Amino acid sequence: MRWQYHKLTSGAAIYAVTGGYFPTCMAMIGSILPDLLEMGIVRHRTATHWPPPWIVLALVSYETCRLFPNVWMYLFSFICIGALLHLGEDYLSVTGIPFLSPGSRRRGAELYVTGTMGEAILVMLVTGLFLLLAWRRGFFTTGHAMEEIVKVKSLSALFWR
Ligand SMILES: [Zn+2]
Repeated sequence: MRWQYHKLTSGAAIYAVTGGYFPTCMAMIGSILPDLLEMGIVRHRTATHWPPPWIVLALVSYETCRLFPNVWMYLFSFICIGALLHLGEDYLSVTGIPFLSPGSRRRGAELYVTGTMGEAILVMLVTGLFLLLAWRRGFFTTGHAMEEIVKVKSLSALFWR
């Protein structure tokens, strides 16, 4: 799947679930990591597209910030969740992702071929569905935006103190 599409679908999914601006941004960054980490060195859709390390990272970071609330760990956990969503989105393609080991045969749901109109339609459908859900949950109201802006301001104060 193309990077813009990964950001769209993952961002919409996390926004529909959390309604948070920061978790959504972090998930969008995480959603391109599996491809970014290949850096032209790792064979496409192998080690960086193998789910177990991402699942462990997401669980450990999520659990750590549940036990010891920490904003950095919280944001990191959404980067890992974004990466996992990337794997889920690639799984839906014809090429798929490896499951047994990083180099094992890739399996996919065969719903689209990367770079085709089918991919674009699927992305629009999934993104639209999540945005509709977010709208139904009241995440597009002015009141919600005001709450989120306060959070963004207090968190950015940590960066530029
Ligand atoms: Zn990928």
